[in-house]
Amino acid sequence: MTADFVIVGAGAVGLTSAIALLTEGYRVTLVERGAVGHEASWAGGGIMSPLCSWDYQDSVTRLAHRSMAMFPEAAALLHAQTGIDPEYIRSGMLVLPPFDMAQAQNWCAQHEFPAQPCDSASYLSGHNGLLLPQVAQVRNPRLLQALRRRVTMLGGEIREQQEVLALEVQGDCISALHTTQGEVAADAFIVTAGAWSKQLLGEHALHMDVKPIRGQILLFKFDTPPIEHILVRSGLYLIPRRDGHLLVGSTLEDVGFDKSTTVAARDDMLRKVYEILPAWRDHAPIRHWAGFRPGSPDNIPTIGRHPSLTNLYANTGHFRYGVTMSLASAELLVNEIGQRPQAIPVDAYRWR
Ligand SMILES: Cc1cc2nc3c(=O)[nH]c(=O)nc-3n(C[C@H](O)[C@H](O)[C@H](O)COP(=O)(O)OP(=O)(O)OC[C@H]3O[C@@H](n4cnc5c(N)ncnc54)[C@H](O)[C@@H]3O)c2cc1C
Repeated sequence: MTADFVIVGAGAVGLTSAIALLTEGYRVTLVERGAVGHEASWAGGGIMSPLCSWDYQDSVTRLAHRSMAMFPEAAALLHAQTGIDPEYIRSGMLVLPPFDMAQAQNWCAQHEFPAQPCDSASYLSGHNGLLLPQVAQVRNPRLLQALRRRVTMLGGEIREQQEVLALEVQGDCISALHTTQGEVAADAFIVTAGAWSKQLLGEHALHMDVKPIRGQILLFKFDTPPIEHILVRSGLYLIPRRDGHLLVGSTLEDVGFDKSTTVAARDDMLRKVYEILPAWRDHAPIRHWAGFRPGSPDNIPTIGRHPSLTNLYANTGHFRYGVTMSLASAELLVNEIGQRPQAIPVDAYRWR
């Protein structure tokens, strides 16, 4: 029996899309070139919020905030259903100067987003920082394992080590996908291939503009969490995990599909970390990795049906916030497929 939907790419976006469709009773197959959840969704920091929301357009924060509101219940349910704890923790995020405090506070007031000016003297500046107590984090590899297990529990099929090479078009439809293991047919197809989405779609991408933007991360290990909140300063962030691991990120590099890590990025991030926390000079990172964000103009993803191919959908281009936005993006996609009203305005995310 052919699937109702074949989803190409099993990162956070593909997996949450699959779960949303399976929950509606559709038959779903996920086709993944490598292993499930081993690309950007694995590499990321797991901060469940834009870094400084006031720097983004409303269409970014609207989608992010809808998803952020869905996450506490969804993460608890996922834990209960799968036995895997995604470690959703509301650790709060402390934004350190320099930044425009008045602009940030205005934005938070307008969006009813709790924020407390807060003494950050222990971190370098002596100037006030802004604590956003509602900001949470997840442990990406665990979230992905839980999502994967949930897909299988719901009867979804996952095919790993199978790369989609091309789309077969007949008239105004996709009739099949050519893959490294033969043709795959379905009633409809969804591209959630992250940074590779545009490359895979070729001419059918139209104006969708998604490209890889490399991000490098450093991992530290302490005996216990050395800081309480996520810290953000001038684009650098530090994320304390419950077990003493701590992530420092990240770079934004337009270097194509080159996943190398660089000494220059490592040294630059370390210099900034030691500026904030000079006492850490004795601590060296234990790991260093890179991943490809699906970069899109203004960080606005493409979600929904192709303008002319009637059974082709995309859910991609979430750039810096794809884990954060994943639940709401899946909701939007499934509402469009089911022709149901949307909870938020969706015009900005349409495939043009
Ligand atoms: C360093 C870094 C830090 C980040 N920090 C955060 C953060 O704190 N918070 C946050 O919300 N987001 C963060 N992000 C962004 C976030 O990780 C991404 O937006 C998100 O993971 C995108 O998910 P995805 O499922 O679209 O892509 P991916 O996770 O990359 O998944 C795409 C999948 O498609 C597969 N694929 C590609 N081509 C094919 C093909 N032809 N056939 C079959 N399969 C294919 C790939 O193998 C891959 O598994 C960060 C990203 C990076 C790199």
